[in-house]
Amino acid sequence: MIFATELPKRGPLRAAIDAAFLADEAACVEALLPQAAVAEDAGGRIADRARQLVLAVRERRKAHGGLDAFMHEYDLSSEEGVVLMCLAEALLRIPDADTADRLIRDKLARGQWDRHLGQSHSLFVNASTWGLMLTGRIVRLETLTVDDITAFLGRLTARMGEPVIRVALTQAMRIMAHQFVMGRTIEEAIKRSHAPEHRDYLHSFDMLGEAALTSDDAERYYESYVHAINALAAEAGDSADVYSAPSISVKLSALHPRFEYAQRGRVLAELVPRVEALSMLARDAGVGITLDAEEADRLDLMLDVVEAVYKAVRAREWHGLGVVVQAYQKRAIHMVAWLIELARRHRRRIPVRLVKGAYWDAEIKHAQQQGLDGYPVFTRKVSTDVSYLACARQIWAARDRLYPEFATHNAHTAAFVLEMAGKERGFEFQRLHGMGQALYGELVGAEKQNVACRIYAPVGSHEDLLPYLVRRLLENGANTSFVNRLSDEQAPVDEIIADPVLVTRATQPVPHPRIPLPIDLYGSERRNARGLNLASTSELVALAQAMDKALGEAWTTAPLVDGEALEGSERALTDPSDRRRVIGRAFDADDAAVERALASASAAATFWAQTEVDRRARCLERAAE
Ligand code: FAD
Repeated sequence: MIFATELPKRGPLRAAIDAAFLADEAACVEALLPQAAVAEDAGGRIADRARQLVLAVRERRKAHGGLDAFMHEYDLSSEEGVVLMCLAEALLRIPDADTADRLIRDKLARGQWDRHLGQSHSLFVNASTWGLMLTGRIVRLETLTVDDITAFLGRLTARMGEPVIRVALTQAMRIMAHQFVMGRTIEEAIKRSHAPEHRDYLHSFDMLGEAALTSDDAERYYESYVHAINALAAEAGDSADVYSAPSISVKLSALHPRFEYAQRGRVLAELVPRVEALSMLARDAGVGITLDAEEADRLDLMLDVVEAVYKAVRAREWHGLGVVVQAYQKRAIHMVAWLIELARRHRRRIPVRLVKGAYWDAEIKHAQQQGLDGYPVFTRKVSTDVSYLACARQIWAARDRLYPEFATHNAHTAAFVLEMAGKERGFEFQRLHGMGQALYGELVGAEKQNVACRIYAPVGSHEDLLPYLVRRLLENGANTSFVNRLSDEQAPVDEIIADPVLVTRATQPVPHPRIPLPIDLYGSERRNARGLNLASTSELVALAQAMDKALGEAWTTAPLVDGEALEGSERALTDPSDRRRVIGRAFDADDAAVERALASASAAATFWAQTEVDRRARCLERAAE
């Protein structure tokens, strides 16, 4: 056995998931297109509904004009947007005031904040821009028309120093955080869920915090989930079934400090009983659980945990343990097929939350850094949309076995789901707290589309908030994102609601031309170093076989002089990971070999020195390659 633990044996459905990990993007999308395509008349109805939704949402937004207008004005294609993102990311994390002040000085001096003043009708944008111009200390007094305020602000700026700005900015970040977080404690969040604006909604509470680094962290997160389930038990009291009850969303990385493929044996032994215990507790409380989807290299392990928990859960009749599928992954459609089979095998109905995926930027960077053979996610937004529609169809077709939960803020995606469902209900939409209010305001309620919608409600204090907040800022700030385009009054509605299948068919090449494969990252300059995908069972099996084969061979090393292997004093070569294992023999260079090598080198020195530089450089480069 090459590895410390035996590699798992995979059935055909799991093998299909693994085979799609880094698969060719064009081939994946080609296979998905027929599953996402709709007939012309249905396409027309979807477009009509999506258009109505966009217009209605824009109308509502005008009345409010809030954070989304701000996020659009400072989107991530502007330098100021990136500066704000860095600040948001860093400020909540910097423990000492000095460093925070230096960061502020460094970052704020860079932006041209005055460009944004008056660009939006939103009070929020203009107020923020005022603030940033102030703190960036680049107020050009003569260009401002509101004289009194200007003079006042001018005087104020002169008196302010970085510490004041730090407090103001940290406060601004907290306001932003408040937009996305439902409460600091589960009790506070439950109370807020009773507010009138939440009346028509269900809730899934997420105890903020992820990727526990120590066992203590994991223990603390576990306790917070237990506490949340207990607190929700009273809420679940009147629910007819688990689908109309509140639920909690759980991140497996929060429940184990080493939730990674290389620790598979340990994770299965330690984490599965924890998830099982939480499931039992949730069943008794009448509360559902959904396992959030995280980074792509945790997916295979997550499926192992899901499979083991489904096997273990004693409650044969409980249908409340749900899973998230990320449509931006090439494996998504295969994962749905596997979930259907799992549900059949265990005679359960599995809640499946379909999302597009929140870690796109990180996945792309990670694959490039690792030098993987491809990307686990699609590189065009529209391909992710196609995948979402295809997965939605497959989930809907298996609704006797899967309970469909469609999480999106995109009007076209929602219109597609409504067209697919027709008059039938028995599924739910989901949105994030602080996002999609206007969209679902048009759909939820008996007098509207009478659909159920659940709000994903993060709970926690600002210390635990950071990764979640950054994902939301990325989502809102990306100019490919639906919510961002919706805020752009200049963006034509027809473009925003275009059918992704038609767009994809008209787009070549399918992979994004500005996102080269990881190996081609450096273009013609050089090839990227190739890495191994150590989170893929099939790649590990191939690696183990290659290592096995290598171990079977007799290896000999010897000094090479002028291309000739010389023999000298001989010793056994042992495996550095297990010194008892002899893998070959080595001939060490003796004095005679060294003399011969030096003589040969000095004989060649004149020729080498006279060779033109370019040719020498090419030789060296070839040798390095
Ligand atoms: P759209 O604007 O239509 O889609 C945006 C998405 O497209 C991006 O988020 C990304 O996934 C994708 N995308 C953007 N650019 C590209 C590109 N160049 N190539 C390919 N794809 C691209 N996310 C998780 O990862 N795990 C979870 O467990 C999870 N739980 C959630 C629960 C709920 C209730 C909700 C509403 C969301 C959850 N999310 C989760 C976040 C979710 O992934 C994002 O909110 C979602 O992707 C936004 O999709 P949309 O349809 O609203 O917007």
